[in-house]
Amino acid sequence: MSAILTDGVIKVEGTCKACDHCTSVCPTGAITGLLGQKHKIEFKKCLNCGQCLINCPFGRIGEASMMDQVKTAMKDPNKYVVVQEAPAVRVALGEPFGMPVGTNVKGKMHAALRQLGFKQVYDTEFTADLTIMEEGTELINRVYNAVGAVKDEHAGPLPQFTSCCPAWIRYAEINYPKILPYLSSAKSPQQMFGAVAKTYAAQKLGVDPAKMYVVSVMPCTAKKYECERPEFISSGYKDVDAVITTRELADWIKESGIDFVNLKDEEADKLIGSSTGAATIFGVTGGVMEAALRTAYEILSGQTLPAVEFKSVRGRKPVREASVDIPIKALGGKPLTVNVAIVTGTKYAAPLIEDVLAGRSPYHFIEVMNCPGGCINGGGQPIRHDAY
Ligand code: SF4
Ligand code: SF4
Ligand code: SF4
Repeated sequence: MSAILTDGVIKVEGTCKACDHCTSVCPTGAITGLLGQKHKIEFKKCLNCGQCLINCPFGRIGEASMMDQVKTAMKDPNKYVVVQEAPAVRVALGEPFGMPVGTNVKGKMHAALRQLGFKQVYDTEFTADLTIMEEGTELINRVYNAVGAVKDEHAGPLPQFTSCCPAWIRYAEINYPKILPYLSSAKSPQQMFGAVAKTYAAQKLGVDPAKMYVVSVMPCTAKKYECERPEFISSGYKDVDAVITTRELADWIKESGIDFVNLKDEEADKLIGSSTGAATIFGVTGGVMEAALRTAYEILSGQTLPAVEFKSVRGRKPVREASVDIPIKALGGKPLTVNVAIVTGTKYAAPLIEDVLAGRSPYHFIEVMNCPGGCINGGGQPIRHDAY
């Protein structure tokens, strides 16, 4: 079994200064040690989210690296190495090169990835759209089943939880295994991309899928854990071979002597590279919910969803909710009020989960993302040293 699966991605390294700051950002209490004592991470409770890593003021928390594997694959003539990059990477990659926070460097990043030697450069947005379609369709089946419009014994229960954040999945597995049937069965965009690359794309490109090597650039350290999970080999090949973070890509570009700031913009490859605006909002909290809700609304009602107004629940900003009246076409236009919630920070999901398990949840659909504000502030993003 992979060391990442047995020991985790995140470790305290070097001399811990015992400032105790990391314990305040950890969503699970996985970090032990009092003020003045060396701190340790207990893998049994750790979500691999990297929030402690990006918030350690002394840089004493590190992550397992897959860079050596990626560089070895790039040199191997029997490997055809392709890369996907997630939407939150492009607005953070400019920072390590001195560009203003939030600069969109998508075109320069595509050019840099080609200079590093990737054979194909793709956006994860294409499979973010697939995730939205899968999660939206699954929600429709659950709603139809619940209101008796179409009986489907395989439809899961309501509310449906999103399933694209691997830290949230691990939180549910460790703390609330009974909630797992409520989670969408859809793979995350990262894993869908790997499966599509090794089936459809390999066939279209005439590449033996056994030779295709898929690298992800992610804003997320938990994605390294996700790609190693043994269930993600549905095509017969590991969906994603290796994950590197935004930080690691920046270091690699610098080491390679690429003049990133002056690169000319390039487009992503198009074979599996087209996408809608819905996929782009995946990187911020509420994005998955809004995109899937729009899909479900259009299919259930045959109409376009007007604006969704989200409001904070009882003043707790990490939880927001909205209600949408959907006229159900299959029930002659009879309206159904669909209640949705967005949770930022896994620890805030606990009361909602307990309501679901006690049968008193008012919601039909709940999005949970681990990191504050979503993947844009993920544990793989550049560290803001000016914050200290
Ligand atoms: S934040 Fe860093 S230095 Fe401070 S206790 Fe945690 S690991 Fe040690
Ligand atoms: S990676 Fe996340 S869950 Fe694990 S110790 Fe750090 S903050 Fe806690
Ligand atoms: S919110 Fe995004 S960056 Fe953070 S753990 Fe989840 S998938 Fe990773």
